[in-house]
Amino acid sequence: MLLNKGLTVIDVYQAWCGPCKAMQALFRKLKNELNEDEILHFVVAEVDNIVSLQSFRDKCEPVFLFSLNGKIISKVKGANAPLVNQKVISLIEEERKIAAGEMVRPQYHEIIFVDSDDEDAGEAQNGSADDLYSIAIIKPDAVISKKALEIKENVMRAGFVIEAEEKKVLTEEEVRNFYSHLADQPDFEDFVSFMTSGLSYILVISQGDEEEAHKEEPKPETEPNEPSENQPEVEVKAASVGMKKKRGSLQEYLERQHISQFCDVEENGANVNKFIDIFFPEFKKMKTMKLQRTLALIRPDLCRENQEDVLKAIQDEGFKILMQQQIVLSEEEAKTLCKEYEQDDDFEQIIQNMTSNPSLVLALLGNNGLTRWKQLLGPNYVEDAKRYLPESLCARFAMETSPINPFYGSDSLEAAEREIQYFFPPQNTLAVIKPHVPNEYKEEILKSIDEAGFQVTQMKEILLSQEIAEKIYKNLKGKDFYKDVLKMISGGPSVVMVLTKWNAVIEWRRLMGPTDPEEARLLSPNSLRARFGKNILNNAVHGASNIYQAEDIIEKLFGEPDPENPEENSNL
Ligand code: ADP
Ligand code: MG
Repeated sequence: MLLNKGLTVIDVYQAWCGPCKAMQALFRKLKNELNEDEILHFVVAEVDNIVSLQSFRDKCEPVFLFSLNGKIISKVKGANAPLVNQKVISLIEEERKIAAGEMVRPQYHEIIFVDSDDEDAGEAQNGSADDLYSIAIIKPDAVISKKALEIKENVMRAGFVIEAEEKKVLTEEEVRNFYSHLADQPDFEDFVSFMTSGLSYILVISQGDEEEAHKEEPKPETEPNEPSENQPEVEVKAASVGMKKKRGSLQEYLERQHISQFCDVEENGANVNKFIDIFFPEFKKMKTMKLQRTLALIRPDLCRENQEDVLKAIQDEGFKILMQQQIVLSEEEAKTLCKEYEQDDDFEQIIQNMTSNPSLVLALLGNNGLTRWKQLLGPNYVEDAKRYLPESLCARFAMETSPINPFYGSDSLEAAEREIQYFFPPQNTLAVIKPHVPNEYKEEILKSIDEAGFQVTQMKEILLSQEIAEKIYKNLKGKDFYKDVLKMISGGPSVVMVLTKWNAVIEWRRLMGPTDPEEARLLSPNSLRARFGKNILNNAVHGASNIYQAEDIIEKLFGEPDPENPEENSNL
């Protein structure tokens, strides 16, 4: 392909996203306008199939190479249509002049590709498919005593990478499966009930890059603790096969750090594979898909005019809208999100517009979502978009009233996370599954909680004390059913949980549905009270009515707020 005469523009693409669709229109336009089939060629090259292009593997943005008579002389990163357009036109112009004898051929340096490229060091690099993973389970006693975060930090400090994490109450079947090698131990049954009694963290951990880890291993901070009272002393020895690097296996590391009694590890390749499929059915797909989140924003004019079509177009492109809210930006927020227009004469007016009417802010998730969203929304100005990228969202949804792109997208993965955290800060709420609910319904309720995108940050099954029951229902004091409610809630153990999500208090109340199950079945038939409530008193679930109530009771039940889920907004 590089033997073509004249200029060849190569669209270097990754197998997972295909050639850059947005630039195809530009290439067609250039082919038509320049009409130089002999000396202008456009080709596509899949990185994974071409050894010399391997340094572009796993990059998050498209790359265009310019090959002149077989030598690669220039490269453009990103779908920068104006730049690609200008380069092609000037190189063809030169070729024409050279052919007509009007100029001598300039000496271009050939670009040599090296295999490491730290330009992209800030991007999330996913491991290759043959990465070695382990599965670790941080057990309920460590979760309840808040040791889980400490263990995770310790492991990460040593350079291990937590690739995926799930917080859940293990089912009996899962425990028997994971600990099958202990099944003949005398107190195995007690161990199974201990393991199913509360929340565990299940982690997929890879070795990471050992050189990045601290050279000196941290000294264990605590003396080995006695196993906690309620944990039967079944000796847990995970099979340690493979992964014998300098730092040693995860199991060996945990033992040296005296934390192996809180955290069981499986390192046998076949077993790890099996448990990844059980606990993380999406993990392998995610590894090849590179799921990324980005913040997206639809500016006020478009938001007012055509929100529905825009949201449909976003979903048609395969993005999942995780969260959305309509807000009027403050001046500071608007300035941060309009940085690229700072030098424009009408910057003041842009900010004025952004701060006087609501924008729609979205958190989007998609395969290679951050880069793809940036590509899809197109250049900064409508004029460029219409000229070079008519398929971009900017060109499709351009507003007469404004010359700038009516969409915004985060610039990097780090900015995306910061901006999502800022606009959609996580909130904690208190949720209770009431004592009358049978076990099979509890499972269903937990499944619905998970599907609705809540993180179960804390969870335990307890008989609520009189004091806590009175706190939960203090607003009902004086009602004729007050006594019945207290009796109902202390009629057996309840499952108490901290649920975490943006807008969690309201969202949990929405998922619960109206107080009376009869009414819920009419008004909100998919709600939990409609599905699992018996009557107005035994209506399956409880939820705090506001953030203050939630915090107050969470602190009573679980102690200090969990440092992993700070409520405060981070700075944009
Ligand atoms: P919610 O649980 O939706 O926040 P309330 O705070 O008004 O509703 O009531 C708390 C709980 O008291 C309800 O979940 C229900 O169990 C009970 N309750 C409410 N109204 C009645 C009633 N009229 N008769 C019996 N029990 C009731
Ligand atoms: Mg209430």
